[in-house]
Amino acid sequence: MPSREKLVVIGGVAAGMSAASSAKRAKPEMKVVVLERDLHISYGACSLPYYISDDVKDFHDLIVLTPQAAEKERGIKVLTRHEALSIDKESKQILVKDLNGNKEVEISYDKLVLATGGLPVVPPSQGSI
Ligand SMILES: Cc1cc2nc3c(=O)[nH]c(=O)nc-3n(C[C@H](O)[C@H](O)[C@H](O)COP(=O)(O)OP(=O)(O)OC[C@H]3O[C@@H](n4cnc5c(N)ncnc54)[C@H](O)[C@@H]3O)c2cc1C
Repeated sequence: MPSREKLVVIGGVAAGMSAASSAKRAKPEMKVVVLERDLHISYGACSLPYYISDDVKDFHDLIVLTPQAAEKERGIKVLTRHEALSIDKESKQILVKDLNGNKEVEISYDKLVLATGGLPVVPPSQGSI
């Protein structure tokens, strides 16, 4: 039996979970795996100031989807505390650090989405930090 096509998404917040969910909707038979180095996925980063100001008391109220719900409701396998260390594009293998057990594993993919966020560019002007 041919193996199912496998999509791996690195990063499990807005872009990553959108990509994973869209892929699953378009191709329900596809195996979709999300790697997220943090504990949480799919949370509203925009609302973090409300948590800091105490308007939102419980951090969990910012979470849209848990890894368990992603698997149960959307068929997406989420590996939290898993950090992608390097990608071998030739062999389509990702070297991943399982931060729970502190061990390295290799994960293969057919398709890959990088949704690891970005860093702001700070212009080199006087007073910038
Ligand atoms: C305080 C605040 C307010 C904001 N307000 C607004 C707003 O009003 N409107 C708006 O449109 N946007 C707003 N934003 C921006 C919005 O939250 C971001 O655009 C959005 O979170 C980006 O999502 P993303 O999935 O691209 O990246 P991120 O949210 O940065 O997620 C990337 C994920 O990838 C993971 N990752 C990175 N490298 C690896 C790796 N090697 N292996 C495994 N995982 C990895 C990270 O742990 C992270 O969880 C706000 C952001 C903040 C912080």
